[in-house]
Amino acid sequence: MTVDIHDLEAILARQEEWRQKQTINLIASENAQSPAVRRVQNSDFMGRYAEGHPNEPGKVLRYYQGTKYIDEIESMVTREICELFGAKQADVRPISGNAANTAIALGYLRGGDAVVANSTDAGGHISHGPVGVIGRRIQNRGQLLKLGSEKSVHLHYLPLTEDRYHVDAQKAIELIDTVSPQLVIMGKSLFLFPEPLSEVAAFCQTKKIPVLYDAAHVLGLIAGGQFQDPLREGATWMTGSTHKTFPGPQRGVILSNLESPEAEKKYWAVADRGVFPGSSSNHHLHSLAGLVVATREMKQYGREYAQQIIRNAQALGRALDELGTPVEAREFGYTQSHIIAVNVAEWGGGVEVAKRLEENDIILNYNMLPGDSDPRNPSGLRIGTSEMTRFGMDEKAMGELAQLMHDAIRGKDVKEEVHRLRSRFLDMKYV
Ligand SMILES: *Cc1c(COP(=O)(O)O)cnc(C)c1O
Repeated sequence: MTVDIHDLEAILARQEEWRQKQTINLIASENAQSPAVRRVQNSDFMGRYAEGHPNEPGKVLRYYQGTKYIDEIESMVTREICELFGAKQADVRPISGNAANTAIALGYLRGGDAVVANSTDAGGHISHGPVGVIGRRIQNRGQLLKLGSEKSVHLHYLPLTEDRYHVDAQKAIELIDTVSPQLVIMGKSLFLFPEPLSEVAAFCQTKKIPVLYDAAHVLGLIAGGQFQDPLREGATWMTGSTHKTFPGPQRGVILSNLESPEAEKKYWAVADRGVFPGSSSNHHLHSLAGLVVATREMKQYGREYAQQIIRNAQALGRALDELGTPVEAREFGYTQSHIIAVNVAEWGGGVEVAKRLEENDIILNYNMLPGDSDPRNPSGLRIGTSEMTRFGMDEKAMGELAQLMHDAIRGKDVKEEVHRLRSRFLDMKYV
């Protein structure tokens, strides 16, 4: 007799109904995958291994037999993702964005190295910080980097302009000149505006310092040509998550556009070893087929999709702000990405307001805003428009959503109206 899984299936069905049909999902790091992306992942590959590379000349080959079909898929996705991003090299094996960063850290950095990156309170990702993989990798003799102590001298933060939403390129260059780091990292998690990558990378090139651009959040916007173009602006590597603005399965990717054999040897070979055996062995083969599908979807619809994501974020920002719920970075048009940051200190702070919104089936996360000091009492909400854009919401729907959020933030029960609004946007677009 087969095991009873009715209870489990009931939970899955409830999740499906709730998160695909009832809630308005504004979590900036999430997206909804197309039926085709979901369909191709339920396969035999979920039980298989394929370490190494597809059987291609000049590369380390597979360590397992039985891989001829995953070889086909892995070559296919590598080729197609290179085409989409105009890249010469792609590693599609990291199982998440953090694993992609881990690969670079393990392959390239050593204890005692210096790194310049965004701080977490400037919106940087925790993996770049003292307790993340970058910080831990450059520790000497296994000691935790303590910021503000002399042990912290190897991790430096990118200086910001006064508004705290932009990196100050000139000051960043001066810092890099002074500390001569082994690596500069740009890109972050509260990512409203492009980084001054061209200026910084041009300077780094004169000192032969590689630049890692972390595109975890904005990979889909880059694929659609609507953010910045890191591989043309001088990034040595671009890492990303394939499930945030890029609407694929949960995985990661490393891309480069290294021309010379010397550069490839110096920067790509270390990334390769950092991925395997560094940060993964089996690489969750079944989800690779889903990445092929999402790559094709972005090739066909990426421009249109990314444009609408950004228009929606700007429209939602404007509408909330005009209603009287203050949105950050007003003087810069709120955002040039899929994210806006809203200040809800006046209504109980981020933690409390995020819960209140969840009770109304509006799902998002609280976030520290520049100037916040207590991580347990953040004053902001981070809001992303990728998923609702995919379900067809436009600027007008953003206006309706802003009114519901505005009311819910102030304690009004709007759950019924949230369900009514959501019920008009159930079919997936751009697929
Ligand atoms: C989300 C994020 C990551 C981690 O990505 P995962 O795919 O969740 O591992 C890395 N860097 C930045 C800047 C991020 O925002």
